[in-house]
Amino acid sequence: TQKLAAAHEKGQSTFSFEYFPPKTAQGVQNLYDRMDMMHGLGPAFIDVTWGAGGRHSSLTCDMVKTAQAVYGLETCMHLTCTDMERSKIDDALKEAYNAGCTNILALRGDPPREQEKWEQTEGGFRYARDLIKYIKKTYGDHFDIGIAGYPEGPDETTNAEEHIVYLKEKVDAGGTFIVTQMCYDADIFIEWAKKVREAGVPESVPIIPGIMPISTHAAFLRRANWSGCRIPPHWSDALEPIKNDDSAVREVGCDLIVEFCRRLLDSGIMHLHFYTMNLASACKNVLEKLDMIPSAGSPNPELKPLPWRQSLG
Ligand code: FAD
Repeated sequence: TQKLAAAHEKGQSTFSFEYFPPKTAQGVQNLYDRMDMMHGLGPAFIDVTWGAGGRHSSLTCDMVKTAQAVYGLETCMHLTCTDMERSKIDDALKEAYNAGCTNILALRGDPPREQEKWEQTEGGFRYARDLIKYIKKTYGDHFDIGIAGYPEGPDETTNAEEHIVYLKEKVDAGGTFIVTQMCYDADIFIEWAKKVREAGVPESVPIIPGIMPISTHAAFLRRANWSGCRIPPHWSDALEPIKNDDSAVREVGCDLIVEFCRRLLDSGIMHLHFYTMNLASACKNVLEKLDMIPSAGSPNPELKPLPWRQSLG
């Protein structure tokens, strides 16, 4: 957050990219190639998701290690406390610490796919708040701790306003930045962010919107429905008639996302977080239209050239 604050104080808005561990070795290699290309776009940090119940956790840890320790990218590791022994949490934190990673997104976690309901493990944590306290107790201030926010409510049992109380608890427990669930409605987001501040979350805790670029119409609908986010009517009006033309959807979708981002930036949001789905072009197109990519003449001075390709042969 210090790095973000330094940029924001100078009036520079920043962005970051989220990746998930691919299922195959070939997928991992392809992703490193994409990360190479996307690193050149100048993200302030990247983050790597954590599989429900710790599935693929060693790959998450490996990717964090590679990105942070080998390539010097500011990396944030997601970590959940659902359906998982404490030793797995301890191991992941130790690996992140040893790799020089100083950012953890502390989450309760989604239930594994085969389970409908979330279950607390024997001796495990109940809420993300408990994981945050544990990280603070074990590592002091070493980690900047991110927390999840939900402009449209976290689930069917808790609405967005109720959850703000718990969000504030997570900040009080040690959360230093908030990353939100995907959202496509700027009015909802801006109103929610205002309420988060009114609830006492200080300006020093950045509120970072999670943004899912649009690739195909089917994927757009599926993800919006899955996360329960509202689709503004003018988005449906623009996308529905062209839904079978993928390239038109990408173009119009890009404009809609750009319009959404501009509204947020105009409202005082300084950082945009992109759910890349491990793909580059949709994010790149949005950032180009927002004019947020450092130009060749003024590259981000913090960027180091990456040796991904050499290392991969
Ligand atoms: P919490 O903040 O603990 O909230 C969980 C539920 O409990 C909510 O309904 C909340 O309102 C309620 N609650 C919280 N505190 C209290 C309290 N004191 N008393 C009563 N009720 C309370 N999942 C993964 O598995 N891997 C990932 O990598 C991952 N990344 C994510 C990234 C982002 C940006 C977001 C927004 C979500 C991500 N998730 C991920 C999903 C997340 O794990 C789920 O949404 C999960 O169900 C809730 O996690 P949380 O950290 O928000 O939980």
